[in-house]
Amino acid sequence: MVVLLDDVNRLSQRISAVSESVTLAIDAKAKAMKAAGEPVISFGAGEPDFPTPVPIVEAAIEAAKDPKNHRYSPTSGLPELRKAVAAKTKRDSGYEVTASQVLITNGGKQAVEHACMTLIDPGDEVILPVPYWTTYPELIKLAGGVSVLVDTDESTGFKATVAQLEAARTERTKALVFVSPSNPTGGVYTRDEIEAVGTWAVEHGIWVITDEIYEHITFDDAKFYSMPVLVPEIANQCVIVNGVAKTYAMTGWRVGWLIGPDDVIKAAGNRHSHATSNVSNVAQHAALAAVSGDLSAAAEMRATFDRRRHLILDLIDKVDGMTCLEPKGAFYAFANVKGMLGREVQGVAPQSSFELAEMLLEKVKVAIVPGEAFGAPGYLRFSYATSDEAIAEGLERIAKLYA
Ligand code: PMP
Repeated sequence: MVVLLDDVNRLSQRISAVSESVTLAIDAKAKAMKAAGEPVISFGAGEPDFPTPVPIVEAAIEAAKDPKNHRYSPTSGLPELRKAVAAKTKRDSGYEVTASQVLITNGGKQAVEHACMTLIDPGDEVILPVPYWTTYPELIKLAGGVSVLVDTDESTGFKATVAQLEAARTERTKALVFVSPSNPTGGVYTRDEIEAVGTWAVEHGIWVITDEIYEHITFDDAKFYSMPVLVPEIANQCVIVNGVAKTYAMTGWRVGWLIGPDDVIKAAGNRHSHATSNVSNVAQHAALAAVSGDLSAAAEMRATFDRRRHLILDLIDKVDGMTCLEPKGAFYAFANVKGMLGREVQGVAPQSSFELAEMLLEKVKVAIVPGEAFGAPGYLRFSYATSDEAIAEGLERIAKLYA
């Protein structure tokens, strides 16, 4: 007898609730259009456009030749890489951890997933400031958690205040997601603000998942601080997400890490041992070369991003109806486009930033991620980790359309 599966029960409820990453979907669409010969300019993907620095690539080539790396290795990461990440963390942020507190993951993204699956029980509430990085609400949902959104806007530099966090807190609050510098806004919390948030979390026994992936990309007087360095009491209820992707132009290598108390890292490592086993040895050796080397290539890239940041801000300013708060970190400009909505252009009048992004891709072949992907309609996120020429041409096409 053939039993027909009905549409409702075919997939698990857990997975059915999760949506595709909009940022990666837009990037894929732009790349497909480009491959079909269309002159697409993409501000979509959050990845540096530079090649990975040569010494890192060479370390990977050497690693690939060594038969030792053709075999399984310890599931929580190569011991030398866990040690090097601990040393790099002390060097860069001043936070002292042991190698056993470091779990090597498939990118920072998997570190976020492990953090959610290790800390969140079904029904637990997680405070998530908006605009958020698109992956957070989906992974919280996968873990059975409930995101409690805290809206922010230009008035606070897209940063959540302790008063807002306190208003969102209930007895079910398990954790806070804290991302600074921020994707998508480029907001960077000050030392005092981080201290205040950390102190509040300690006071109320709330875990903090702190995402440090953009630690080396800050501008002007903005400075990165690691929360457990400013608030040492939080060490036992804090996990750090980080990785090599943004600092060393290594998005495709897929190496990140989760740092936390020993019991959390041991538990997350158990899960990792079943879900993943070790991260690719070749990629881990590349990451080892990256974190053990100096930060000169990162400094050069940062200087280039800073130049492009000024360029894109100037050009956004020239588009009628578009404004942008100056980002202080990462490589995103989060432009307010509310003044462009409802206006008719070439026969269409986009009513939302989502429709506006669709229209811009269609009419002028410019790919930008709509704010809806980050819980913040009315905005467009431009990744300016692309060439000066592409920035100039892309913004010119939009400005012309709205002239
Ligand atoms: N955190 C944030 C805030 C990010 O923007 C990203 C990448 N877009 C990541 C984590 C994960 O980066 P990866 O998985 O490439 O290491």
